[in-house]
Amino acid sequence: MSTLYADIIVDISHEKLDRPFQYRVPEKLQEVLDVGMCVTIPFGKGNKLIKGYVIGIGKECNFDSARIKDIAGIVQEDVGVENKLVTLAGWIRRNYGSTMIQALRTVLPAKKSVKKLEHKRIERLMNREEIISLLGESERKKQTAKVRLLRELVEQDTIPYEWVTGKLGVAMATVRSLEKAGALRLVSQESYRNPVKLSATQDYRKHLSEGQLHIVEEVIRDYDHGQKGTYLIHGITGSGKTEVYIQLIEEMVSRGRQAIVLIPEIALTYQTLLRFYKRFGERVSVMNSTLSPGEKYDQCERAKKGEIDVIIGPRSALFTPFPNIGLIVIDEEHESSYKSEGTPKYHARETAMEVARLHGASVVLGSATPSMEAYFRASEGEYRLFKLSERLTGESLPQVYTVDLREELKSGNRSIFSRKLQELLADRLQKGEQSMLFLNRRGYAGFISCRSCGHVMKCPHCEVSLSEHKGGVLMCHYCGYQEPMPRLCPKCNSKYIMGFRAGTQQIEDKLKELFPGVRTLRMDADTTKSKDSYENILTAFANEEADVLIGTQMIVKGHDFPKVTLVGVLAADLSLSVGDYRAGERTFQLLTQAVGRAGRGQLPGEAVIQTYQPEHYSIVYAEKQDYESFYKEEILYRELGGYPPASHMLAVQIYAREEESGKCLAERLSSMVKSMVDIYEPAYKQPKIIGPSTAAIGKINDIFRFVFYVKHKEYETLIDIKDALEEKLQQWQLKNESVQFDFDPVNTL
Ligand code: ADP
Ligand code: ZN
Ligand code: ZN
Repeated sequence: MSTLYADIIVDISHEKLDRPFQYRVPEKLQEVLDVGMCVTIPFGKGNKLIKGYVIGIGKECNFDSARIKDIAGIVQEDVGVENKLVTLAGWIRRNYGSTMIQALRTVLPAKKSVKKLEHKRIERLMNREEIISLLGESERKKQTAKVRLLRELVEQDTIPYEWVTGKLGVAMATVRSLEKAGALRLVSQESYRNPVKLSATQDYRKHLSEGQLHIVEEVIRDYDHGQKGTYLIHGITGSGKTEVYIQLIEEMVSRGRQAIVLIPEIALTYQTLLRFYKRFGERVSVMNSTLSPGEKYDQCERAKKGEIDVIIGPRSALFTPFPNIGLIVIDEEHESSYKSEGTPKYHARETAMEVARLHGASVVLGSATPSMEAYFRASEGEYRLFKLSERLTGESLPQVYTVDLREELKSGNRSIFSRKLQELLADRLQKGEQSMLFLNRRGYAGFISCRSCGHVMKCPHCEVSLSEHKGGVLMCHYCGYQEPMPRLCPKCNSKYIMGFRAGTQQIEDKLKELFPGVRTLRMDADTTKSKDSYENILTAFANEEADVLIGTQMIVKGHDFPKVTLVGVLAADLSLSVGDYRAGERTFQLLTQAVGRAGRGQLPGEAVIQTYQPEHYSIVYAEKQDYESFYKEEILYRELGGYPPASHMLAVQIYAREEESGKCLAERLSSMVKSMVDIYEPAYKQPKIIGPSTAAIGKINDIFRFVFYVKHKEYETLIDIKDALEEKLQQWQLKNESVQFDFDPVNTL
């Protein structure tokens, strides 16, 4: 048996990751030692035994092999939060493909450059009468700054320092001189930044509906019996899921456990936050991308110290270092943002289950349109399914009309608004009610093509279609490349080169042509570039500053607008023509969400779905708001195609500076996999290989992209293949190419 060496870190922090210590793995540990384990090692000159974590194991010794020391032993017992995070990183590395360092960077909070926020305040030392007499003295001496400060001190006994220097305009020297006189003292206190700045009154526990109560009771009963399960709540918006989460959390907190609530960032609204804050006060905190690294780090410290019980945040909140997690909630579990796009490409749903396993916690998933994965697992009995089917607010579902755009054209309507939609829009404007117009996706609409030869204007660097913007500019949404709108087709010189005029901006223009004086707001990637613009637009619409809100995906999530009684989906099938196996699922989800935006208040709602493919099952069942029927059709398609969740799929993505070398590497790797696959008996159990081919977007920023896919029923088989490829890649030490793995890809574009 050849000697093995282990890379070990002794301090769990980002800074130490790049400089691990190397130790020899003694023979007796060779079989059992694994990445992520906690070990004891002799350290330093005195060979003091300390704890360390294995972050890598290999055959190469990068150190004087005569002087290298042996690992002393494996620490068996649980050693707390750190150990769990390192174990989790090991799990992520293995299941999604990355280095241990990349995995550790994902799960550990960045420590660097944290400045503790100092809170200074001034405290009165003398009694009120003494201050008043001091004040009189200062007034006589015309010491105006002192007077200002003393006047405040007459009123209150502590003043925040920022207020003294800011609003009162009192200099430090003045404070010091009064301190000397014994009138006050300056106190400073280190404080953790708490990003939740709400002052809200306590909210009372709601009396749960029968359906809600059943879920809470079952989950808690299982938990108390030591059964830590995964539960899926399938319930339309407004059916009371959030209330269930809140009461489950209360139960867990009363058992001394902590809870993590994942909510897609876009849906993490002030309203939602406020609901949690009203129940848990200072014991709840929030994590989101607008927090500085220092603030994020502080949240982690507060969690570790037991100062908070609940954290709410997007994907990464899953790594909050709580000592004793009892519950992980994933709201809107179908959202694609739960899958990481950077390496390691982990999925929060599966990773949550591993976190739960490490802590002995339960996992509750919630959605109005569950992901195919979650519903499949539930139907296989892996998750327990609960249904909440009524809106507690008493609203009914909107009336939906599907319009066939081909028919519209035949009857001579060339407008982007069907006659039905025009009629309903006019009705709403007349009644003073609000409408929302939803365009399926930016970038797909607005592309420029030649009506004579079919040529599509594309970005020379990214191979995606360019979109038309105001002022006759074509722009690439990946790299920002711009060029002027051509007057003649570059391929055939025809003058019939034009856009489909269906971007959000064009819709706004057309709407204004159709309804002069209509007040509009537009929400898309262009109008929401700055930090607050998203919230600002929503607030303006909620304040009824506009009649119609036009937007992309962003408008169908989050906020409720009680005055919206009409939703128009302008091109429902645009998302169907995306070459991706999840196109149908995504279309169904988007349409269901969009339709669900209508009639969230006292007034009943209506929705219009405009489409060229009214017979497609995603559209038919979205119109009926019938999830189960959609699922039944969609799972058949997944089974036939061997797509997740019926099967598992590994995408091997190759990136290269040169087209030829990238292609070559893709072929080499895929043929390696082919030869590995031949050993599987019987042959029908062999993993299937698709490709290699140029990726859907063949080039981004002048980097060529290739991809091939491996499909198999067993996830473990795909892990084996990934491991074998990783090992080869490590040997090759490629300079101009890189490879990434994506398990069960959510986005194959
Ligand atoms: P979801 O998360 O499924 O969208 P919510 O939990 O937000 O549903 O509930 C929708 C609305 O119904 C909210 O305004 C909430 O305050 C209210 N609600 C939820 N549960 C109850 C209940 N048991 N009794 C009365 N109102 C409730
Ligand atoms: Zn042409
Ligand atoms: Zn580009």
